[in-house]
Amino acid sequence: MEGQTVGESLSDRELAHRLLELEKRVDCLETTLAAVADEIDGLSLSSRCSKCEESMLIVRDGMLYCPYCGDGHSL
Ligand SMILES: [Zn+2]
Repeated sequence: MEGQTVGESLSDRELAHRLLELEKRVDCLETTLAAVADEIDGLSLSSRCSKCEESMLIVRDGMLYCPYCGDGHSL
């Protein structure tokens, strides 16, 4: 499954399977990330950055901050 080129024809069933696998991985990563954030004093995670949508916003010291595009503002 790994290493296949993107763009080759995939059946709907294969795509559905991949989508489910990806969703599981994202859920797993989000759970892990939230737990890691909990371990760090004064740090938590907010929703996805509305500006770039490439990262979740990090909340620290009363400030929202996007690690991807650098967008941020105070709470
Ligand atoms: Zn951003």
